[in-house]
Amino acid sequence: MHKDKENWKLLIEINQDKCDFCGCCVGVCPEDAIELKEAQIGIIESECTNCSKCVWSCPVEAIKFNKDELKKQTVVMDI
Ligand code: SF4
Ligand code: SF4
Repeated sequence: MHKDKENWKLLIEINQDKCDFCGCCVGVCPEDAIELKEAQIGIIESECTNCSKCVWSCPVEAIKFNKDELKKQTVVMDI
């Protein structure tokens, strides 16, 4: 997926406290953008495309799509 690097913002957040390190999200990420190492999980911002597949894969709802940030970025067309 093409990313506009200047306007790009990561919209995915992982709650480390909720995560039980099952690895489901790592398996579904099409960009290999999630790293799970020694009870720590993180997103590689440069690889993530905000596709949100990881959000739906998490059995404990530890991954969130930041809708407020998305709203801020939305361009409203006056037509
Ligand atoms: S939003 Fe998509 S690309 Fe980004 S970490 Fe989740 S599954 Fe991977
Ligand atoms: S799917 Fe959820 S619980 Fe499993 S490793 Fe990913 S964030 Fe953690």
